[in-house]
Amino acid sequence: MTRILKFGGSSVGSAAALRRSAAIVRGELPAGGLVVVSALKGTTDRILEAVAAAGRGDLPAAQAQLSDLRDHHGAVAAELGLVNNVRPAWGPLLARLDQVVTGMALLGEATARGRDAALAAGETLSAHLAAACFQATFRDVREVMRTDARFGKARVQLPALRAAAEPWREALAGGALWVTQGFLGIAPDGATTTLGRGGSDTSATLLGEALGAAEVQIWTDVDGVLTADPSLVPEARPIPRMSLGEAEALSAFGAKVLHADSLAPGGRAGFRLVVANTLRPGASRTEILPVAPSRAAGEVTSVAYKEGLSLLRYPAAAGLEPPLEAARRLEEAGALRFGLVSSPAGTLLAVRPDTPAAAEALADLEAGGAERESGWAVVALVGEGLRADPVAALRHLAALGHEPVGGLLTGSSTVSIAFLVPESRLGDLIPRLHDRCVLRSPEPA
Ligand code: ASP
Ligand code: MG
Repeated sequence: MTRILKFGGSSVGSAAALRRSAAIVRGELPAGGLVVVSALKGTTDRILEAVAAAGRGDLPAAQAQLSDLRDHHGAVAAELGLVNNVRPAWGPLLARLDQVVTGMALLGEATARGRDAALAAGETLSAHLAAACFQATFRDVREVMRTDARFGKARVQLPALRAAAEPWREALAGGALWVTQGFLGIAPDGATTTLGRGGSDTSATLLGEALGAAEVQIWTDVDGVLTADPSLVPEARPIPRMSLGEAEALSAFGAKVLHADSLAPGGRAGFRLVVANTLRPGASRTEILPVAPSRAAGEVTSVAYKEGLSLLRYPAAAGLEPPLEAARRLEEAGALRFGLVSSPAGTLLAVRPDTPAAAEALADLEAGGAERESGWAVVALVGEGLRADPVAALRHLAALGHEPVGGLLTGSSTVSIAFLVPESRLGDLIPRLHDRCVLRSPEPA
């Protein structure tokens, strides 16, 4: 059965990184398979800056960005001795990128459609270079990745992807070794779309689903999914095996390794998802399994947090309608909701206003009389063991001691228990919870 490897921008960002990735491809895909790559590190940001400058009508600034992009790509290809291999594909791609950006600069207007067309160059340049470096064949993901026309955040149309991927499935089963782009799709009218920043993990897992892959490996720059954020907890360690439910809870509560959207295909299709470190291929890695590994009752596998939350408090007299209405408005504007807790004393809504529109909606609600406090964080203890023993989950809260907890959140996901704390407490609290709840958690039976 087919295996898929995905390399992020830092795994293809330099000649040295590409050489390391090539060795991994040789080791992991001796009988062929599919490799999905991101744009070279920094490229997507650079193209976005070029497009922003073009939108302001600043052609020189836009072209300066493109010229840096060409120089960097050229230098990496030269260092690998692959300039002649990539020239036939790169020439037209760079010329088209220049035209798209120049057109936008002349109009002084950057559309979402034009931006996606420009972004496609980054991923496609990278995929051609990686194909040359891995001695594989380039295939354009737009042959198969059918999406709607929501430029910048397109949604994949799974039945259409599945049908289009049929020939890919056969070729890969026959031993082909192919490299394709992440992040890109194709709208019904043939225009290029993108899936949203960081979308190439989702590309890889969706392809895994469509191709009936046995395994999708995400190669990045950490030793798998860790028990805590290593910047707060130096002794955090990789989790060798975890369930999809744990991975979903972790990404919902702030762990940065995998995007929530990238996890859904594994749940539907049942392939194994692996997170490994390109810099240390032999180091530990994390396997995310559709079926939960055995955990002791009450065992916590990791602690996650997310900062930047605002709390909105509504007195009991207000009833439930205003907070529900506020939640709806904020979510439509792009805020993430972390809790809606109703008690006899009133209702508490915890949100993270992640977009300018959401920040504006929040300010409006405050002006309308809602009581708002910013500077909060959500902290979650995550583990399949909590599902088995909810009382043990509550016992873990003893580790909070006298922390000023702003609210306890119990969601539908019973693999986690979460609470609100002031952001200023994270530095003390996360290491303490890691020590008490993760390191001293009961061992699996
Ligand atoms: N290159 C895109 C980005 O930087 C997609 C990805 O890397 O996943 O967002
Ligand atoms: Mg990335």
